[in-house]
Amino acid sequence: MKDLSPQQQIVTACRVLEIAGQADMVWGHVSVRDQRGRGLWLKGSNLGFDEVQERDVILLSWEGEVIEGTAGRHVEYPIHLEIMRMRPDVNAVVHTHPLYSVAFAATGRPLLALSHEACHFVPPDIARFLETGDLIRTPELGQSLAHCLGERNAVLIPHHGIVTVGSDLGRAVAAATHLERACQIALLAGEGAQPSSDEEALRKRERSDRHLTMAWEYLARTVPKTLS
Ligand SMILES: [Zn+2]
Repeated sequence: MKDLSPQQQIVTACRVLEIAGQADMVWGHVSVRDQRGRGLWLKGSNLGFDEVQERDVILLSWEGEVIEGTAGRHVEYPIHLEIMRMRPDVNAVVHTHPLYSVAFAATGRPLLALSHEACHFVPPDIARFLETGDLIRTPELGQSLAHCLGERNAVLIPHHGIVTVGSDLGRAVAAATHLERACQIALLAGEGAQPSSDEEALRKRERSDRHLTMAWEYLARTVPKTLS
């Protein structure tokens, strides 16, 4: 991933998210930090994950202005800007509206360690942003979401979607696919499902970084070469 340009990284990530079933028409976006410190690269607006091309990726300044590229700017760009401003360790942010994650978040139930996937996020229970289920379209809401995320790698936004982050875009995308599967399993298992012990779940967590990298490498191979 590191040998790809920011535009290539974002196009690949969008294709993977589309194949993984996280597309929601033209909504949802991914970003990577600009390595020259100018801001971040963001998928352009009004395009599906299956449509976006390298020319549709824009560079945003830390003030949120488009300083490179001609595509539109997603109104929820403060999600990306404020998380990266607050978390120097985060180089990539994914925001999607995945089916099972949105359904699970609406139940209000804690996310339990019911599968390998869930152990990337819990225990303790996953963060939930409860200030609004509407769009995150202001710097203030973006900052509030970043505070809610804290030092974690994911946050559920009930009635809206998810945000995952990573030290690179591959890990952030892999976290999004794992969170969606964890939420699907939680819904299938239902109330009263028995989780792993905290000790076992946290032992699994120790392998998280390597596991997310392996998952991304696999996911990237699922993208047909003609599309990427
Ligand atoms: Zn959204």
